[in-house]
Amino acid sequence: MTIEVGQTDICPHCKTANRFEYVKDSSGFTVNLNSLIGKNEGRYSLELCRCTNCGDIIIHFNERMIYPLGSTRPPCPKEVEIVNENISDDYKEACLVEQYSKKAAAALARRCLQNMLHDQGIKKNDLNKEIDEVMTKLPSHLSAAIDAIRTIGNFAAHPIKYQNTGEIVEVEKGEAEWSLDVLEQLFDFYYVAPEKLKVKRGELNKKLQATGKPNLK
Ligand SMILES: [Zn+2]
Repeated sequence: MTIEVGQTDICPHCKTANRFEYVKDSSGFTVNLNSLIGKNEGRYSLELCRCTNCGDIIIHFNERMIYPLGSTRPPCPKEVEIVNENISDDYKEACLVEQYSKKAAAALARRCLQNMLHDQGIKKNDLNKEIDEVMTKLPSHLSAAIDAIRTIGNFAAHPIKYQNTGEIVEVEKGEAEWSLDVLEQLFDFYYVAPEKLKVKRGELNKKLQATGKPNLK
Protein backbone atom coordinates (compact mmCIF):
# COMPACT_ATOMS: atom_id res chain seq x y z
CA MET A 1 0.00 0.00 0.00
CA THR A 2 1.52 3.32 -1.03
CA ILE A 3 0.47 6.90 -0.68
CA GLU A 4 0.90 8.99 -3.82
CA VAL A 5 1.39 12.67 -4.41
CA GLY A 6 -1.80 14.28 -5.70
CA GLN A 7 -3.99 11.44 -4.42
CA THR A 8 -6.39 11.51 -1.49
CA ASP A 9 -5.70 8.89 1.15
CA ILE A 10 -5.63 8.35 4.92
CA CYS A 11 -2.49 9.85 6.48
CA PRO A 12 -0.58 7.28 8.59
CA HIS A 13 0.32 10.06 11.06
CA CYS A 14 -2.90 11.98 11.68
CA LYS A 15 -5.32 9.34 10.27
CA THR A 16 -7.12 12.07 8.33
CA ALA A 17 -8.23 11.73 4.71
CA ASN A 18 -6.39 14.39 2.76
CA ARG A 19 -4.21 15.16 -0.25
CA PHE A 20 -0.45 14.59 -0.36
CA GLU A 21 2.16 16.91 -1.86
CA TYR A 22 5.84 16.77 -2.76
CA VAL A 23 8.30 17.59 -0.01
CA LYS A 24 10.30 20.68 -0.92
CA ASP A 25 13.87 19.80 -1.98
CA SER A 26 13.10 16.06 -1.94
CA SER A 27 14.58 15.83 -5.46
CA GLY A 28 18.00 16.05 -3.77
CA PHE A 29 17.33 12.75 -2.10
CA THR A 30 16.50 11.02 -5.35
CA VAL A 31 19.59 12.36 -7.16
CA ASN A 32 21.92 11.27 -4.36
CA LEU A 33 20.46 7.80 -4.32
CA ASN A 34 20.78 7.38 -8.10
CA SER A 35 24.41 8.48 -8.09
CA LEU A 36 25.17 6.02 -5.29
CA ILE A 37 23.83 3.03 -7.18
CA GLY A 38 25.56 3.95 -10.46
CA LYS A 39 25.08 1.10 -12.96
CA ASN A 40 21.96 -0.10 -11.24
CA GLU A 41 20.17 3.16 -11.86
CA GLY A 42 16.47 2.66 -11.57
CA ARG A 43 16.83 -0.33 -9.28
CA TYR A 44 15.85 1.58 -6.18
CA SER A 45 13.19 4.17 -5.65
CA LEU A 46 12.95 6.50 -2.71
CA GLU A 47 9.95 8.77 -2.54
CA LEU A 48 8.93 11.37 -0.05
CA CYS A 49 5.61 13.12 0.27
CA ARG A 50 3.99 15.34 2.84
CA CYS A 51 0.55 15.24 4.41
CA THR A 52 -1.23 18.53 3.69
CA ASN A 53 -3.14 18.22 6.98
CA CYS A 54 -0.49 17.54 9.66
CA GLY A 55 2.60 18.45 7.62
CA ASP A 56 4.50 15.27 8.54
CA ILE A 57 6.36 13.33 5.85
CA ILE A 58 5.83 9.81 4.56
CA ILE A 59 8.77 7.89 3.01
CA HIS A 60 8.51 4.95 0.60
CA PHE A 61 11.46 2.79 -0.41
CA ASN A 62 10.73 0.61 -3.46
CA GLU A 63 7.03 1.39 -2.97
CA ARG A 64 7.09 0.15 0.62
CA MET A 65 6.33 2.64 3.36
CA ILE A 66 9.36 2.85 5.64
CA TYR A 67 8.29 5.95 7.57
CA PRO A 68 6.20 5.93 9.59
CA LEU A 69 6.23 2.20 10.22
CA GLY A 70 2.68 1.04 10.66
CA SER A 71 -0.54 0.82 8.76
CA THR A 72 -2.43 3.31 6.62
CA ARG A 73 -5.69 1.58 7.52
CA PRO A 74 -8.12 3.28 9.87
CA PRO A 75 -7.67 2.43 13.56
CA CYS A 76 -9.79 -0.34 15.05
CA PRO A 77 -13.07 1.21 16.26
CA LYS A 78 -13.24 1.50 20.06
CA GLU A 79 -16.68 -0.17 19.93
CA VAL A 80 -14.97 -3.41 18.81
CA GLU A 81 -12.22 -3.17 21.43
CA ILE A 82 -14.76 -2.77 24.24
CA VAL A 83 -16.73 -5.86 23.19
CA ASN A 84 -13.95 -8.31 22.30
CA GLU A 85 -10.21 -7.65 22.56
CA ASN A 86 -9.33 -10.85 20.67
CA ILE A 87 -11.04 -9.42 17.61
CA SER A 88 -9.45 -5.98 17.85
CA ASP A 89 -5.98 -7.44 18.61
CA ASP A 90 -6.03 -9.71 15.55
CA TYR A 91 -7.25 -6.88 13.32
CA LYS A 92 -4.58 -4.45 14.58
CA GLU A 93 -1.82 -7.02 14.16
CA ALA A 94 -3.03 -7.93 10.67
CA CYS A 95 -2.89 -4.23 9.70
CA LEU A 96 0.62 -3.89 11.12
CA VAL A 97 2.04 -6.84 9.16
CA GLU A 98 -0.02 -6.29 5.98
CA GLN A 99 2.77 -4.66 4.01
CA TYR A 100 5.43 -7.17 5.14
CA SER A 101 3.58 -10.49 5.11
CA LYS A 102 0.35 -11.00 3.18
CA LYS A 103 0.21 -14.60 4.43
CA ALA A 104 0.30 -13.54 8.08
CA ALA A 105 -2.17 -10.70 7.50
CA ALA A 106 -4.63 -12.99 5.71
CA ALA A 107 -4.38 -15.65 8.45
CA LEU A 108 -4.98 -13.09 11.20
CA ALA A 109 -7.87 -11.62 9.23
CA ARG A 110 -9.50 -15.06 8.82
CA ARG A 111 -9.15 -15.77 12.54
CA CYS A 112 -10.52 -12.33 13.33
CA LEU A 113 -13.50 -12.91 11.03
CA GLN A 114 -14.24 -16.28 12.64
CA ASN A 115 -14.07 -14.83 16.17
CA MET A 116 -16.43 -12.07 15.10
CA LEU A 117 -18.93 -14.57 13.69
CA HIS A 118 -18.72 -16.57 16.93
CA ASP A 119 -19.42 -13.32 18.77
CA GLN A 120 -22.57 -12.98 16.67
CA GLY A 121 -23.71 -16.45 17.72
CA ILE A 122 -22.67 -18.18 14.50
CA LYS A 123 -20.60 -21.20 15.47
CA LYS A 124 -20.25 -24.21 13.18
CA ASN A 125 -17.50 -26.73 12.51
CA ASP A 126 -15.55 -24.43 10.23
CA LEU A 127 -15.41 -20.94 8.73
CA ASN A 128 -16.84 -22.12 5.42
CA LYS A 129 -20.10 -23.24 7.05
CA GLU A 130 -20.16 -20.15 9.24
CA ILE A 131 -19.90 -17.91 6.16
CA ASP A 132 -22.77 -19.87 4.57
CA GLU A 133 -24.93 -19.14 7.60
CA VAL A 134 -24.04 -15.48 8.04
CA MET A 135 -24.69 -14.81 4.33
CA THR A 136 -28.39 -15.49 4.95
CA LYS A 137 -28.44 -12.83 7.69
CA LEU A 138 -26.42 -9.99 6.17
CA PRO A 139 -27.53 -7.25 3.73
CA SER A 140 -26.76 -8.34 0.17
CA HIS A 141 -23.69 -6.12 -0.32
CA LEU A 142 -22.02 -7.51 2.83
CA SER A 143 -23.10 -11.02 2.02
CA ALA A 144 -21.43 -10.78 -1.40
CA ALA A 145 -18.33 -9.20 0.14
CA ILE A 146 -17.83 -11.96 2.71
CA ASP A 147 -18.46 -14.63 0.07
CA ALA A 148 -15.73 -13.06 -2.06
CA ILE A 149 -13.18 -13.75 0.71
CA ARG A 150 -13.62 -17.45 -0.13
CA THR A 151 -13.41 -16.90 -3.87
CA ILE A 152 -10.38 -14.59 -3.80
CA GLY A 153 -8.66 -16.81 -1.20
CA ASN A 154 -9.47 -19.92 -3.26
CA PHE A 155 -10.80 -21.75 -0.21
CA ALA A 156 -11.71 -24.71 -2.42
CA ALA A 157 -8.02 -25.45 -3.02
CA HIS A 158 -6.95 -24.61 0.56
CA PRO A 159 -9.36 -26.26 3.02
CA ILE A 160 -6.98 -25.42 5.86
CA LYS A 161 -8.06 -21.78 5.46
CA TYR A 162 -11.54 -22.58 6.79
CA GLN A 163 -10.67 -25.60 8.95
CA ASN A 164 -7.90 -23.91 10.92
CA THR A 165 -8.35 -20.21 10.23
CA GLY A 166 -5.22 -18.80 11.90
CA GLU A 167 -2.82 -21.15 10.09
CA ILE A 168 -0.23 -19.55 7.82
CA VAL A 169 -0.80 -20.87 4.31
CA GLU A 170 -0.31 -19.70 0.73
CA VAL A 171 -2.08 -16.45 -0.01
CA GLU A 172 -3.71 -15.35 -3.25
CA LYS A 173 -3.21 -11.92 -4.79
CA GLY A 174 -5.45 -9.36 -3.10
CA GLU A 175 -6.69 -11.83 -0.46
CA ALA A 176 -5.21 -10.11 2.61
CA GLU A 177 -6.31 -6.66 1.44
CA TRP A 178 -9.86 -7.78 0.65
CA SER A 179 -10.22 -9.70 3.94
CA LEU A 180 -9.21 -6.59 5.91
CA ASP A 181 -11.50 -4.37 3.82
CA VAL A 182 -14.44 -6.68 4.60
CA LEU A 183 -13.55 -6.77 8.32
CA GLU A 184 -13.75 -2.96 8.40
CA GLN A 185 -17.24 -3.08 6.83
CA LEU A 186 -18.37 -5.75 9.30
CA PHE A 187 -17.00 -3.77 12.27
CA ASP A 188 -19.22 -0.93 11.19
CA PHE A 189 -22.27 -3.14 10.67
CA TYR A 190 -22.01 -5.18 13.88
CA TYR A 191 -20.45 -2.76 16.37
CA VAL A 192 -20.23 0.88 15.28
CA ALA A 193 -23.57 1.56 13.56
CA PRO A 194 -25.74 -0.08 16.31
CA GLU A 195 -23.89 1.93 18.97
CA LYS A 196 -24.42 5.20 17.06
CA LEU A 197 -28.13 4.41 16.71
CA LYS A 198 -28.36 3.64 20.42
CA VAL A 199 -26.93 7.08 21.25
CA LYS A 200 -29.29 8.86 18.84
CA ARG A 201 -32.23 6.89 20.22
CA GLY A 202 -31.32 7.98 23.75
CA GLU A 203 -31.17 11.62 22.65
CA LEU A 204 -34.55 11.36 20.93
CA ASN A 205 -36.14 9.72 23.97
CA LYS A 206 -34.91 12.59 26.15
CA LYS A 207 -36.62 15.05 23.79
CA LEU A 208 -39.81 12.97 23.79
CA GLN A 209 -39.80 12.80 27.58
CA ALA A 210 -39.38 16.58 27.79
CA THR A 211 -42.54 17.05 25.73
CA GLY A 212 -44.44 14.42 27.74
CA LYS A 213 -44.50 11.86 24.92
CA PRO A 214 -43.75 8.13 25.35
CA ASN A 215 -40.30 6.71 24.54
CA LEU A 216 -39.54 4.90 21.28
CA LYS A 217 -40.17 1.20 21.60
ZN1 LIG B 1 -1.28 13.77 8.40
